[in-house]
Amino acid sequence: MADQIKIEAILKESPLLRLVQAREEVLWINPQVKAEPDITAEGLSLAAIDDADERLRRFAPYLRMAFPETEPTQGLIESPLAEIPSMREHLSQLTGKIPGRLFLKQDSHLPIAGSVKARGGIYEILKHAEDLAFEHGLLKAGESYAKLAEEKSRRFFSKYAVQVGSTGNLGLSIGIISARLGFRVTVHMSQDAKEWKKELLRQHGATVKEYAGDYEKAVAEGRRLSQEDPNSYFVDDENSKTLFIGYAVAARRLAEQFTQQGITVDAQHPLFVYIPCGVGGAPGGIAYGLKTIFGSHVHSFFIEPVDSPCMLVGMATGLIEAISVQDIGLSGQTEADGLAVGRPSGFVGRVMKEFLSGVFTFKDEKLYRHLQALYQSEGIFVEPSAAAAFEGPARLLDHAAGRAYLKEQGIDQTMEGSIHVAWATGGALVPAEERKSYLERN
Ligand SMILES: *Cc1c(COP(=O)(O)O)cnc(C)c1O
Repeated sequence: MADQIKIEAILKESPLLRLVQAREEVLWINPQVKAEPDITAEGLSLAAIDDADERLRRFAPYLRMAFPETEPTQGLIESPLAEIPSMREHLSQLTGKIPGRLFLKQDSHLPIAGSVKARGGIYEILKHAEDLAFEHGLLKAGESYAKLAEEKSRRFFSKYAVQVGSTGNLGLSIGIISARLGFRVTVHMSQDAKEWKKELLRQHGATVKEYAGDYEKAVAEGRRLSQEDPNSYFVDDENSKTLFIGYAVAARRLAEQFTQQGITVDAQHPLFVYIPCGVGGAPGGIAYGLKTIFGSHVHSFFIEPVDSPCMLVGMATGLIEAISVQDIGLSGQTEADGLAVGRPSGFVGRVMKEFLSGVFTFKDEKLYRHLQALYQSEGIFVEPSAAAAFEGPARLLDHAAGRAYLKEQGIDQTMEGSIHVAWATGGALVPAEERKSYLERN
C-alpha cells in the first residue's frame, strides 16, 4: 500500500493527477512509451503468442461441436472488423473532425461469451483442460480434440473445479466454457455485477457467489477458496500470463483482417487503437500483441471512467498496483461495470510501461450517448463499458495533450491516412430488456 504522505507529495507535483482527482476528463500521455519496446518484458515472447494461436486452432474441432455458433469461423473465436463511417461523421460533429478512417473491432460479438473475455478467459480454460487431458491420458498426441465433447470427457473434467472472481464478463466467459467442458465452476462476483449475468451463469450450470463490497473482495475470496481445494484451478485476472497471451492473439487476427480488407499500416497510415480498461489484462494483452506486429506504427490508448481510472493512476504515479483510485479519493464506482476496478494489475502495469501511449478518462453520461449514437448511425449494439472506446477517436485531437503527442511522434502531418480502431469489448449477450433501457436512457 502506498502511504498517504507519499501520495500527497505526488499529487502536489502533478497538475494532471489533481485534475484526475477532481474527476475531470483528461488525456494522460505516457512519457515512457517507446516506438520499439522490449517485447520480452516480464517473460513474455512472440513464441508464446504463436503457441496460443496454435492451441486455439487445435481446439477448433471441439469448439465447433460444443458451440455451433462458432461454425461460421470454423471453430475459431473471432469477431468482425467493420468500418463505421456514419459513426465517424457523428463523432466529428461532436468534437471536431476525425481524420482518416474509423473502424469497430466487434469483440462485442465474439461467439460463446459476447465479450473480449471470450479471448483470454476461454483460452485459459482450454489450456488448463488440455494440460489435464494429456496428463491423465484422456487425449493423446494427434487425436482430434472433438473427443473432449464426449460424455466420457465431461465426466473426467467433473472431478476438477474452476474458480474466478469477476465484475461480470470474465465470469461469464469462464463459467460458460468451464461448465460446457464439464468442470465444476464457481464464479465469485461483486454484488453490483449485473443480475442478468448471474442468472445466465446459473442457467449454464455455474455456481455464483456474491460479495458485498467491490471486486477485489470477490477475487480475494475466490483465490482463498480455490487454494483450499487441490483439484481447483483459480483464474487470476490480475496476474495470469495465460489470460494475457490469449488476449494478445487478437492482434494477429486483426492484422489478418487488415490484410483481407486491403488496409495497410505504415508510416503514412499510423494505427490508433482505443480499448476500455478495467484491471488491464484485455487491453494490455491486445496492446502488447499489436506492438509485436506493427512496432512504431501503432499507438495504443486505454479508456477509463473518471471514477475508476486505475491504470492511469497506477502508471502515472509509477506505483502501479500499490495505489488504488480510492487512495486519491475516487469512488471506483461506474455504470461501466467491466471497468469498475480500483486497482490495476501489477503485471500488466509493468508490461505497459513502454507499450502504452496514453489513457483517456470519461464521465459516465458519455457511455449512453456513444452507445445510442452507434446504434442509430450503424445499427450496432454494444454494452456501456464498450461504448467508452469512442472517447478515444472523439477526443484525440480535442485534448491539447493529444495534439502534442502527434507532433512529438512526427505524425501530425500524416493523420489523413490514419486508421482508428475503437475496440468494442462487449454487448452481444445483453438481454433485450436491458438493451432497451440503455437505448432509451437520457
Ligand atoms: C473486462 C472488460 C473490459 C476491460 O478488460 P480488463 O482486462 O478488465 O482491463 C472492458 N470492457 C468490457 C466490456 C469488459 O468486459
